[in-house]
Amino acid sequence: MIDFKESQGSVLDEKREKAFLEHLYNSIPAAIAITSTSGIISMINREFTNLFGFTSEEAVNNNINDLVVPDDLKEEAIRIDSLASMNNKEVRQTLRKDKFGNKIHVSLVAASIVIDNEIVAHLFIYRDITTERKNQLLQEILFNISTAALKQYDIKEICPIIVHELSKIWDTNNFFIALYDKTSETLSLPFFADEKDSFYEIPITKTITGWVIKQNKSVLLKENDLKILEEAGDIDLVGTPCKVWIGVPLRIESNIIGVMCLQDYHDENKFSQDDLSVMDFIANQIAIVIQRRMILDNLILATQKVEESALTKQLFMSTMSHEIRTPLNEVIGLTNLLIQGNPREDQMEYIKTLKFSGNHLLTLVNDVLDYNKMDSGKIVFEQTQFNLSDFLEEIMRSYSFRSKAKHLSFDIKKASNLPDEVIGDPTRLNQILSNLLSNALKFTNQGSITVLIKELERTGNQSKMEFTVTDTGIGIPKNMHSLIFDRFAQASQDTTRRFGGTGLGLAICKKLIELQGGTITVESEPKKGSTFRFVISLGVSEKGSQTQTAESPEDYTGLEGKRILVAEDNKINFFVANRFLIGWGITVTHAENGQLALDILEREDFDLILMDLHMPIMDGIEATRIIRNSENPKIRNIPIVALTAAIMSESYDEIDDLNINDYVLKPFNPHDLFERIRKHIK
Ligand code: ADP
Repeated sequence: MIDFKESQGSVLDEKREKAFLEHLYNSIPAAIAITSTSGIISMINREFTNLFGFTSEEAVNNNINDLVVPDDLKEEAIRIDSLASMNNKEVRQTLRKDKFGNKIHVSLVAASIVIDNEIVAHLFIYRDITTERKNQLLQEILFNISTAALKQYDIKEICPIIVHELSKIWDTNNFFIALYDKTSETLSLPFFADEKDSFYEIPITKTITGWVIKQNKSVLLKENDLKILEEAGDIDLVGTPCKVWIGVPLRIESNIIGVMCLQDYHDENKFSQDDLSVMDFIANQIAIVIQRRMILDNLILATQKVEESALTKQLFMSTMSHEIRTPLNEVIGLTNLLIQGNPREDQMEYIKTLKFSGNHLLTLVNDVLDYNKMDSGKIVFEQTQFNLSDFLEEIMRSYSFRSKAKHLSFDIKKASNLPDEVIGDPTRLNQILSNLLSNALKFTNQGSITVLIKELERTGNQSKMEFTVTDTGIGIPKNMHSLIFDRFAQASQDTTRRFGGTGLGLAICKKLIELQGGTITVESEPKKGSTFRFVISLGVSEKGSQTQTAESPEDYTGLEGKRILVAEDNKINFFVANRFLIGWGITVTHAENGQLALDILEREDFDLILMDLHMPIMDGIEATRIIRNSENPKIRNIPIVALTAAIMSESYDEIDDLNINDYVLKPFNPHDLFERIRKHIK
């Protein structure tokens, strides 16, 4: 025992004091060793024996560093000693070893005992912080596992991370997670680490894992326990027998979805009941993570399904519309020809009805295509200059006639300060107004239809304009006001039966307006009428008129003797076009695809090409590209007017830089075709 400074009391007092001190050391819940300045142990307390396994006899007179410091930490221990001598006290967390060589995480206090300015001894106090550290580590591990699981998509990717994390506290050479499929009674091993065996898919029958699932509880089984279970017929031991086996169920609510297992082939004391509790805790966390993942996956899957079905629907609608449009174009084209051919009066009635129905059907088909295009964001708005008065006059012309037929008065009123020349997309503006006017016509049986245009604001060269279309028709109940702008929505169930229509018109208007940064609203009362109001910005042009004023449609002169190459694969479309062109005195040459058109161009001269964009072998886009890159200036500069099924049906990205002079929509309006040819022909 240490030689304390002689006290002044009697021998009895001294004894009592010693006993008192001894009692004190031994009741302190920390391991204490007192050494000489050179590290020779003179005293340890009871807790020291508990922690390191050395009895007092085994410890005293040995060097403390030889006794409890692991080899690789010897240098550090010497440093701690000298720091303690200098500063009187040094505190740190480090590793020490016990009598059996097991490493112990300790919090160490090394202090010098100084009497009369002289260091007479060293005091070492150790506190076992293994559990603390393990808990700290566990927190860290759980955090890392949760984070990883949220980031990774697949359990296969999460498993290696779990193993890596768990390896911080256990030897995870033989670790696996088995996912349990209740219906097929099988276990799948999305991840398996085993130094001896490898399984990837196993039936549950008689496996230890299966047994855990049946027991529905966590187990720690040693070699002998496993043998007993095998003898009782509960399990069949396959593969290499292990010394100790831990299995904890992964549960979601009360259902077992798998088992997390850890085994050791060498030491049956490798894992304790404490480890089992920790595994249990981690399993709970992992189960939550897997559940979260599953919910997320199901959600993603459900969303994907919804998206896919929407896409399939869109694709189906587009394909059907395209398919319907080709024969429809032919019908309308032929109807146009019939009208030109001076039919009898009674026949004219039928032909006109045929034309009206054909056009109506075409509008519907184009609407569907248009809507799908807009829905998928593939719409580009033109920015062309046009004369607003001419534009409105054109509308006036077509709707005053139709209004008269229904004995309705029709008027377009425009404010006096409106700009003359504006920049925007006339086709789309026409489409919006036509939709609103067609509805007004459709739903009004007496009274009037009025279009009002005024300028709300002018900033720089932008004019914010308000268009209102007012009718005195059947009106719309208030609760339907916002719904009618949804696609396929109609104000009442019998609308289609009574008035026709698909419920797409207003949805298209709204899309077209909003995509151009505008708004549309409705005010309406049943039986009183409706007012549709939309606001849209148009550019204001300083330049004079660029629009060519259309001459009387009957005046089809000026193209006589011109040579036009028509590249068109559809026989009926060509037949119709050819009839009109010949009628206007044009010499027509036919090419059935882009390649043939190129061949003919090499041999003959033409004033213009009418080019269908969709053709077999070589389409019009490719043919135009080759023509525009030709070395021969005669070929390179030839005007090309594209024939296209609908303004929206081609990919704008592709044809934007092709230098096509103009477009004619199929089925072509003869007047339109004539005007476009005349505009571009030299
Ligand atoms: P559609 O006219 O093809 O049915 P719309 O989208 O153009 O489709 O219109 C949707 C619905 O809004 C119509 O079915 C009708 O019930 C109502 N509606 C639209 N315009 C008017 C109007 N001017 N007067 C009365 N109801 C209208």
